[in-house]
Amino acid sequence: MKLYISADMEGTAAVCSWEQCDPDNLTEYPYYRHLMSLEVRAAIDGARQAGVTDVLVNDSHSSMRNILWNELPHDVRMVYGNRKPFSMTQGLTPEFGAAFFTGYHAPAGERDGTLEHTYTPSTIYNVRVNGTRCSEATLNAALAGAYGVPVVLITGDQAAVNSVKSQMPWVTGVVVKESIGKFATDSMSPEAARAAIHKGAADAIGRLKDARPFTFEPPLTLEIDFVLTEQADFVELVPGFERVDGRTVRFKNDDYPSLFRAFVAAFRLGSAANIR
Ligand SMILES: [Zn+2]
Repeated sequence: MKLYISADMEGTAAVCSWEQCDPDNLTEYPYYRHLMSLEVRAAIDGARQAGVTDVLVNDSHSSMRNILWNELPHDVRMVYGNRKPFSMTQGLTPEFGAAFFTGYHAPAGERDGTLEHTYTPSTIYNVRVNGTRCSEATLNAALAGAYGVPVVLITGDQAAVNSVKSQMPWVTGVVVKESIGKFATDSMSPEAARAAIHKGAADAIGRLKDARPFTFEPPLTLEIDFVLTEQADFVELVPGFERVDGRTVRFKNDDYPSLFRAFVAAFRLGSAANIR
């Protein structure tokens, strides 16, 4: 069976600041990218123990060049670098039997979620599909679901895990830390987190028959609340986007991958309004 892993960084054990996740930071980031890499490795090893054969990892954080190649098994492929048209779900196709989301975090606006945000903190205030508030995990799981691929494992803090399990109860959640507000956590040690992820990954594959693809029911409506009105000014210019109010745009398309691409286009274009 083929496994897809979308690997983010903020939900890694011990991580509690932007500096630790910032590739331009030369003091803290090198250590924490190492921890991120080892958690991905633990997920791969656990999945393989449960029978997974092929693994594709999509490095899904910031520059999307974080995971250290020498920490992964030699026969694993990795989607590396930005910008990718499908961003955190690049390379996900119907060929995969299951998907893992590792190092994930809570959606923008979630209380007590370490480093909570949705894609671009300076641009996206809130995202809804069919009126449901979406985290990155929700948006990405629905892309997997459109291809018939179930998400079976989420790792991160309790806010990230709880928000996914409230929408996808079949997902195995590994809580590696308890968030204390946005910039503090009560965390497992990195080594204990890796052991928990290894076990969670094996359990998740073992329970695959209970999982199902997560989908939104058409007709599909995407609504984005931007942080700034000028971001909505930019995105409203694209045909197909409708301005709802000062900071909100709406886009309708019953093909979810098309809706997802519109979302990626909107946060990139909206972010262009941040450049003064
Ligand atoms: Zn990230």
